[in-house]
Amino acid sequence: MANPDLISFGPLPHHAEIALSKHFSVHKAYPPDDPDRVIARIGPACRFAVAAGAAGPLTDARFARLPSLEIVANFGVGCDAIDVAACVRRGIIITNTPGVLDDEVADTTIGLLLSTIRRLPMLDRFMRSGSWARTKAPWTGTLVGKRVGLVGMGRIGQAVARRLSGFALAEIAYHTRHPVQGLGFRYQPDLVALAREVDVLIVIVPGGAATNGLVTREALEALGPAGCFINVARGSVVDELALLDLLQTGQLGMAGLDVFLNEPNPDPRFFELDNVILLPHVGSATHETRERMGALVVDNLVAWKDGRPLLTPLPETPQRGPGAFSDQADTG
Ligand code: NDP
Repeated sequence: MANPDLISFGPLPHHAEIALSKHFSVHKAYPPDDPDRVIARIGPACRFAVAAGAAGPLTDARFARLPSLEIVANFGVGCDAIDVAACVRRGIIITNTPGVLDDEVADTTIGLLLSTIRRLPMLDRFMRSGSWARTKAPWTGTLVGKRVGLVGMGRIGQAVARRLSGFALAEIAYHTRHPVQGLGFRYQPDLVALAREVDVLIVIVPGGAATNGLVTREALEALGPAGCFINVARGSVVDELALLDLLQTGQLGMAGLDVFLNEPNPDPRFFELDNVILLPHVGSATHETRERMGALVVDNLVAWKDGRPLLTPLPETPQRGPGAFSDQADTG
């Protein structure tokens, strides 16, 4: 029997692509191919999709052109580039890649934090410019004795907190909507209050409407001129214009940013600032972790195709057993 069609909205790592092609007839719907043309060609009958960013957001309008779609397997844990509400309404299941990237993203977060406070990239530039022979190396701020606040204490937040527990900090506290039992870190139900109480604020929550602008100007001001803001969540979770303004005027001390509102073309004013460290959204971007994420994408799709339970369905989307779609009509 021929492999079923699968529409792919972005490339997977090498080994995952090979595995995918053993089970599916893969149709690339991302540049240089034209997503709209590929959707028009195979969309009406296609049951399987991969979401991986390259084709832009997966909107309700796109799903309307994929009336037979049963499952979207997202390459990543954050599903904010997929219209999840539209999937729920249309009965489309989403899977993502939780768990396999937690340690990697936490490592990146710690690296970004130390780079920002200890100014490691600037010191590297100092060396390469030959400045050491002419002048003493500049001193930097420290993480020793500081209070760190985490906004988000899920899988990745907890992996960050575990790592931070090994540093000589004064305190680790956190803000979420619901306290996490048995953690041993102080819970602060008010985000602005947390920002006022700490020296470093690290954000690691999902993107999307529910967290849009969660870190307000008021919170950044509360962090203050000596404060350090680290964002490894999504650009949308912070008031980015306020962040820029406060960094420019010194009302916020420094920031380490892996994520931006307008990726991959962040606001160029960030490039002019000496008190920010910028990363191109690479929290999970190592060969090993990306391959693990790719394998989980494929495992979910193959499980669904073979009638086995999904490994990592997004809890918000329909929890259906395999085969439940055979009679389903398009819901519009
Ligand atoms: P989890 O679902 O395990 O944890 C999410 C945490 O965010 C929970 O503690 C949750 O607590 C908290 N949260 C959610 N909404 C709010 C809110 N409105 N206010 C305060 N806290 C909130 O997710 P993960 O830890 O696995 O991943 C988190 C996010 O990290 C991803 O969704 C993604 O956006 C981002 N990410 C970034 C990467 C990068 O490369 N930079 C890589 C991977 C992930 P509660 O529900 O109690 O509020």
